[in-house]
Amino acid sequence: MQRALSDLQAKAARGRATIELRAKAAQARRRSLPLQLPMPRRGVRFDRHGLERLIAAFGINDPVQIQWATDFRKAETSGTHTWTNDRRHVIKVRPNASAAAVNVVVLHEISHAAQSEEFGSPQAWRAAYAEAKQSGGSYLHNRYEREAREIEYEFGDDFRLAVAV
Ligand SMILES: [Zn+2]
Repeated sequence: MQRALSDLQAKAARGRATIELRAKAAQARRRSLPLQLPMPRRGVRFDRHGLERLIAAFGINDPVQIQWATDFRKAETSGTHTWTNDRRHVIKVRPNASAAAVNVVVLHEISHAAQSEEFGSPQAWRAAYAEAKQSGGSYLHNRYEREAREIEYEFGDDFRLAVAV
């Protein structure tokens, strides 16, 4: 009886441990999910470690998904950032760019992800960006684009975000 009881207790303890471990594993998965990368393409692959470092350096909280663009209409568009209403940073990159170009584009778009979170919600960010675009006179000259370009120039060499393969 004593034996059966201790067996039962041990089993219960193991059960709890399993549940705790499962919860921990789920948590770790959630933590490692925030960055989703596309398959390597045209001689370029993304550097998960470099991107994680950059995301942490900018203090970005919401998940980041990087995708190869299939829907860029304008020839001059090399990348876009959208903070979706369900709070994902979706970054699209032109697929036929060199690794060096992809590096710069991703740094630029991640800068927008960092800027956007300052506003607390995707709606507030879109409103602030539209306002800046109007008062800045154009897409290129609004304060958020200027800041993102400054970050490109300043940190372009410090982060390895895309690698030639
Ligand atoms: Zn931009």
